[in-house]
Amino acid sequence: MGNHAADIDAFMAALKAKNPGESEFHQAVHEVAQTIIPFLDTKPIYKDLKIFERMCEPDRTVMFRVCWQADDGAVHVNRGFRVQVNNAIGPYKGGCRFHPSVNLSVLKFLGFEQQFKNSLTGLPMGGAKGGSDFDPKGRSNAEIMRFCQAFMSELFRHIGPDVDVPAGDIGVGAKEIGYMFGQYKRLTNKFEGVLTGKGLEYGGSLIRTEATGYGAVYFLQNMLDVAGLDMDGKTVVVSGSGNVATHAAEKAHQLGGRVVTLSDSGGFVHDPDGMTQEKIDWVKELKKNGGRISEYADHFAGSTFHAKARPWHVPCDYALPCATQNEIGEEDANALIKNGVKAVSEGANMPTVDAGQKAFQAAGVLFGPAKAANAGGVAVSGMEMSQNSARVSWTDKELRNLLKTTMANIHQTCHQFGEGHGKDGGIDYVRGANIGGFVKVADAMLAFGVM
Ligand code: GLU
Repeated sequence: MGNHAADIDAFMAALKAKNPGESEFHQAVHEVAQTIIPFLDTKPIYKDLKIFERMCEPDRTVMFRVCWQADDGAVHVNRGFRVQVNNAIGPYKGGCRFHPSVNLSVLKFLGFEQQFKNSLTGLPMGGAKGGSDFDPKGRSNAEIMRFCQAFMSELFRHIGPDVDVPAGDIGVGAKEIGYMFGQYKRLTNKFEGVLTGKGLEYGGSLIRTEATGYGAVYFLQNMLDVAGLDMDGKTVVVSGSGNVATHAAEKAHQLGGRVVTLSDSGGFVHDPDGMTQEKIDWVKELKKNGGRISEYADHFAGSTFHAKARPWHVPCDYALPCATQNEIGEEDANALIKNGVKAVSEGANMPTVDAGQKAFQAAGVLFGPAKAANAGGVAVSGMEMSQNSARVSWTDKELRNLLKTTMANIHQTCHQFGEGHGKDGGIDYVRGANIGGFVKVADAMLAFGVM
């Protein structure tokens, strides 16, 4: 065993010099490097053949202009991206994000994470991510359609069902996927499974919409089972109000949890009575029509809106961060711990800062990191790809069972590689997910030689 702290520092210094200013990418790599660099000692060939260095350098990055016209005639110029990180175990796979915060650093962090997440699902999918700094907020349907068509007019030449299969992420849902699929079909004259998250009428899969949020709660449940805890009557704090958050809230509620918060960029709502299915459905409808979560407090008596705040100071048993990266800072983590949180399952990608993760782990809080906890979404995307290839549609029951089994398998992998490394000999889920995701990709890369 070498001096790992020095090895990690040297690795990160080189990465930062090569990728200056990409703070989210540095953060994601650092989180993984802390467990992978010590692990490399167990199999020196990984180190000799620079497997981890290769995983930190995308296979290719495509950046392009996306030019489109607004309803008022104004011409807008956005930037489009696709970062194809690694296709060692299957075609590149990962979502597209449309949000003004999108830049190369954000997409490199997401694509880097995706290669491990996709490996953890056990399905043959490589890692990629794409998107644009386009802001869909406040845009008309016609504007969103023109943007999606313009975006696909360049992206289509870089993707394909056996090459790279994009999907949704923040700002990209069924509507955007529909516009992009239509444009791909028009440009290529091919009807094929080139995107996932499609509508059911044209090759989509049942359960895909629910999968990320449901999966994060199944992962929570798996962690609770091992620890002898349960959901019954427990208080659950959820952030976000999009597809992941509303379905996480729904599943937590169905399993007996009392879900008391949801949020958006304007603030959070606190409903101490707990959210019913009816209330969650109301939020889904609200968000589909571009509404703000503050309206919840006007609509449902007994609830309150807290402007410009996140829900982490609300006392809870379990927390489900389902909004975006770095939404749980170190102080937020400490507030959650002080209020007695027992488990955190990440529905969003990298929602907890590194110091927050460490605080949870030091306090013995069960901490399910994103690449394991939110892998249910891309897992069902993998099932959508299989159905498209075979030209079949699996049943709701089959897919629900597959999602549950997949999350249990991912938990098992984390258990296998993380057991004995957590507080008081417990499971270190961060280590488990990082190593569990790494090994399969690394061994495939070894098989291909130096490239
Ligand atoms: N954007 C989702 C994720 O972060 C889903 C990706 C996909 O289905 O390809 O995993």
